[in-house]
Order: sequence, then structure tokens, then C-alpha cells
Amino acid sequence: MRVLGIESSCDETGIALYDTEKGLLSHRLFSQIEMHAEYGGVVPELASRDHIRKALPLMQQVLDDAGLTQNDIDAVAYTAGPGLVGALLVGAAIGRSLAWALSIPALPINHMEGHLLSPLLEDSPPDFPFVSLLVSGGHTLLVDVRAVGNYHLLGESIDDAVGEAFDKTAKMLGLGYPGGPALAKLAEQGVSGSYDFPRPMVNRPGLDFSFSGLKTAALNAWHNSDQSVQSKANIALAFETAAVETLVIKCRRALKQTGYRRLVVAGGVSANQSLRQALNALPGKQVFYPAMRFCSDNGAMIAFAGAMRQQAMKPDMPAIFTVRARWPLDELTPPSA
Ligand code: ATP
Ligand code: MG
Ligand code: FE
Repeated sequence: MRVLGIESSCDETGIALYDTEKGLLSHRLFSQIEMHAEYGGVVPELASRDHIRKALPLMQQVLDDAGLTQNDIDAVAYTAGPGLVGALLVGAAIGRSLAWALSIPALPINHMEGHLLSPLLEDSPPDFPFVSLLVSGGHTLLVDVRAVGNYHLLGESIDDAVGEAFDKTAKMLGLGYPGGPALAKLAEQGVSGSYDFPRPMVNRPGLDFSFSGLKTAALNAWHNSDQSVQSKANIALAFETAAVETLVIKCRRALKQTGYRRLVVAGGVSANQSLRQALNALPGKQVFYPAMRFCSDNGAMIAFAGAMRQQAMKPDMPAIFTVRARWPLDELTPPSA
């Protein structure tokens, strides 16, 4: 079975074709980052309009890359939330119309389930159950994952998502938008131990996170510094170190609580090398990640989640056309036969 995936929840148009026998056949991504950079963040209306411009040409390229035509597609999966409603509607409208025209199923996919399952696209995928750490621009979640669609929320951020904290701190330090990767790069030049920022909420029981205080600590440190390039790098390193250590502490706690040995990390921040190094050092645990190109938003993860669901699904799904700005992961249910 071949599933076309369409991702348009934010500022990336991602299209991919996944084959349940052969794996990922082709994928294309167009990032709108340059367009939004001059505004310092994503402008929703500009995002929607650009998805309209890019989606169909990308889809044609994906089919060409795979040497296939529309008639070779068996199902269409599209991101139905969470995300920007206007942007989601573009992918939903295209996905639904294409599926209707071809008389094939259309599968509304939860974007965070897409991220969560993205490490399973790799060659040696983890078995269930596992703890999932989802670290992206809009979410910081720890999830007990027992099967596709069987998700129990263990903890989440009570304020900023960790990617958002990276971006806001980077912006404050004048590193541009989105600043997560730039801040991580600058941190490589930092001298460790120059600053020591708080590890928020690690002394309280439970698995929730808070990152807004860490961002404020970095801001205060910057204002009280000599504002030199070296100080900036030192602050970037101290921020990254505190964020990473906080995530590692909560992962260790979640693994202990569930008794699982497998940790699966996904979302844009899973590209962070310091985080990967620290998690890989957890004794007695196996840690899984997506390929670097599939950490941030992409169509491959949506095609893959669609394929996982379609394989287990009733043949006639109701043709509901809705998208959701908010859509908690633990409201999902397993695909039922
Ligand atoms: P969500 O998935 O919650 O809706 P999103 O789709 O905007 O949010 P992603 O595309 O998964 O988020 O990830 C983007 C985030 O990842 C940004 O906040 C970005 O700064 C961050 N990020 C990317 N690379 C790195 C890195 N190397 N270090 C730290 N943060 C990073
Ligand atoms: Mg993005
Ligand atoms: Fe995302």
C-alpha cells in the first residue's frame, strides 16, 4: 500500500510517499522560514497562502521522484491538527479532494503522532512499549506509548515548549528566527561553568516541565553581562546545558516510573546534539531518534502515521472534514479493524 502524506500545520510544506512494503519512496519539503524571518515569527495568513502555492508542485515532484502517478496512490494522509487552522485547511482541502477524486481513503493525522512515530521510519525501529519525549516548537511532552494510538500523557510543559524557549532566548540574544539551531551552534563556543541557570521543576515530583523561567534567567544574565560575543556564547551554553539536563532528569524519571527500557525522542529539538549525547549516556537504556532531516516538520512522518493507521483500519471511514487548532495526543484511539 502506498500512502501520500501532506504536512501543512505551520511553516513547512512537506509531501512524501510511503510504501508499506518498500518504505519511504520519496519526500520533498519547502520551508517558509525565509519569508517569516523578517517578521521574527510565523505570520499565519502568509503561511496559508504559501502552502497553497507549494503543495501541488511538491506533490508532482514527489510522484516524479518515485516514478509514479496519482493512480498509484492507495490512501492520502494529511495533518488535521494541532496547528494553524488556515494552514491546516490547505493540506486538508487538498488531501480530501485528491482522495475523493481518486476514490481512495483520506486519513486525518495528528501532527504530534506524526512526530512521535517518526523514529519508526528508521532501519532498526523500537518495539512497543516505550517512553516518548516529544520536544518541538509548540510541545514538550512525555508519553507512555503502548501501541499506535495508545498514548498516556506522563508530563508536559506548563508554560513555554522547550523549542519555543530556545527560539525566544535566541531572539533575545539577537540570533534571528528560528533561533534554536543558531543558539545550539553558538553554545559550542561557550565556556562551561561561566553561568549556572536553574533546572526548572526538577526538585518537585512529577513529570511536568517549565521553561519560561530559564529564558528569563538567560535574559537577566545577558543584561548584566558585558554583552561581548564570548558572554553571549557562555549564556547560550548555560541555557542549553540547563534545558538538556532538565529533559534528561525527567526522561530518567519517566523510564523509572514506567519500567521501560526504551526511550524514543522526536520533534525539532531532537536534532540537538547535546541532548542526544546526554540521553545516549543513560545507563541500561536504548534511545531512538528520527533521521536528522525528519526531526522538524516533514511529510514523511505524516505518510508513515497514515500507513500505520490505514493498515489497521475499517475500509469505510466517515468523510469528516475538520481540522483542529488543539488536539491532545491522549484523545487518540488505536486504529480498529
Ligand atoms: P509542533 O510540532 O509542536 O507543532 P513545530 O512543528 O513548530 O511545533 P518542529 O518543527 O518539530 O516544531 O521543531 C522546530 C523547533 O525545533 C524550533 O523551536 C527550533 O528552534 C527547534 N530546533 C531545531 N533544531 C534545534 C537544535 N539543534 N537545537 C535546539 N532546538 C532546535
Ligand atoms: Mg517549523
Ligand atoms: Fe512539528
